Amino acid sequence: MRILVVEDEESLANQVAEALRQESYAVDMAHDGEEGHYLGDVEPYDLIVLDSGLPIMNGIEVLKKWRADKRKMPVLILTARDSWTEKVDGFDAGADDYLTKPFHMAELKARVRALIRRSSGLASTELSCGDVVLDTSSGLVKVAGKTVDLTSFEYKLLSYFLHHPDKVLSKSELVEHIYEQDFDPDSNTVEVFVGRLRKKLNTSMIKTVRGLGYRLDTNA
Ligand code: CA
Repeated sequence: MRILVVEDEESLANQVAEALRQESYAVDMAHDGEEGHYLGDVEPYDLIVLDSGLPIMNGIEVLKKWRADKRKMPVLILTARDSWTEKVDGFDAGADDYLTKPFHMAELKARVRALIRRSSGLASTELSCGDVVLDTSSGLVKVAGKTVDLTSFEYKLLSYFLHHPDKVLSKSELVEHIYEQDFDPDSNTVEVFVGRLRKKLNTSMIKTVRGLGYRLDTNA
């Protein structure tokens, strides 16, 4: 899962990015409305954290432009304390949730998990397929009740598969959702990670779809 954080206060932006990276999200950052709008327009984010007060173009305008262009990713806006009008404007512009500054990182993380879950049509914090269970709130992965150690990339990949069951996912889509912007991955790395996941999870649920990519088969 890949998240964009658009926030002009650099220390807050870094804290938010760090908190989300700890949760195994790939995180990109933008520090003004123009750059944020551009990235949200061209990159396939799974969620965007958007400050309402931004230089060049404010967050509400940015959000309105995305929605006018049919960009549907979940957006959580950060609003200034006591500004109820920003919340109303934000929801009217197409926001999915908001947080008032200052906030606790634990609350931000919980809201992010819930938004990503809902946008995938999932109701539970536990994602499962066969005997593989990923608990999005603890970050633990278990196979038949036993905890399995995954690297950060393996976790990101498994999480993306579990959020998109039974869908054919191309290698380039997987790359775009598990790496941050400045990373220049070799497309073979996805094959390597899939191979390792199959081995560690001891499962055949990740199918290769020849010429197209992979599919998490919930009936395997
Ligand atoms: Ca601001």
